[in-house]
Amino acid sequence: MRLFFGLQPDSESALAIAAWRDRQLPLIGRPVPEANLHITLAFLGDVSAHRLERLDQAVGQFVAQKRPPGEVLTLNQLGYWPRPGICWLGPQAWSDSLAGLARSLSRLGTAQGSKGDRGKYRPHITLLRGCDSPPPAAASEPLFKLSFDHFNLYQSHQGRTGVTYQVLESWPLG
Ligand code: ATP
Ligand code: MG
Repeated sequence: MRLFFGLQPDSESALAIAAWRDRQLPLIGRPVPEANLHITLAFLGDVSAHRLERLDQAVGQFVAQKRPPGEVLTLNQLGYWPRPGICWLGPQAWSDSLAGLARSLSRLGTAQGSKGDRGKYRPHITLLRGCDSPPPAAASEPLFKLSFDHFNLYQSHQGRTGVTYQVLESWPLG
């Protein structure tokens, strides 16, 4: 099963972000469907189904012990990564608690056989895929304030019409 942990923007914010993108960014790539907008916390990749229950338990224990706080993110930075070819929207700064949560979830995944993800953590929402040039500066700067009171474990499904994410489990923040 292809798994990752992430944060889901509330539907109003997702709508506003997609609307901003569609108005402010030229179509230099494929727009990510509004329903797919998310912030990855930790990408686990392939984890065998029989490990899912243990992963679930381990995350539950971690949340009960550490009580990770709720998070507020101000998304005001547009970015471009040439390698995956994506344009993204992210915060300029984020809390140590968010970075710590991402690291802990990645470790809990590794303990259940995940290969772990690439590089340093940088929260972002992918807006456009398949971009081979950076987006030009937008006329109206993005500014979205998002609050998160839970995080999710998602299963990623590759379908004929594109990828869909299914929430398998949620845990509270704060
Ligand atoms: P697609 O691969 O079909 O373009 P996707 O990248 O959204 O769609 P997945 O590849 O299943 O779907 O990835 C799920 C999430 O994990 C996405 O947010 C993606 O950016 C992130 N992700 C995927 N691979 C890695 C990786 N190796 N390291 C870190 N994050 C990753
Ligand atoms: Mg991918």
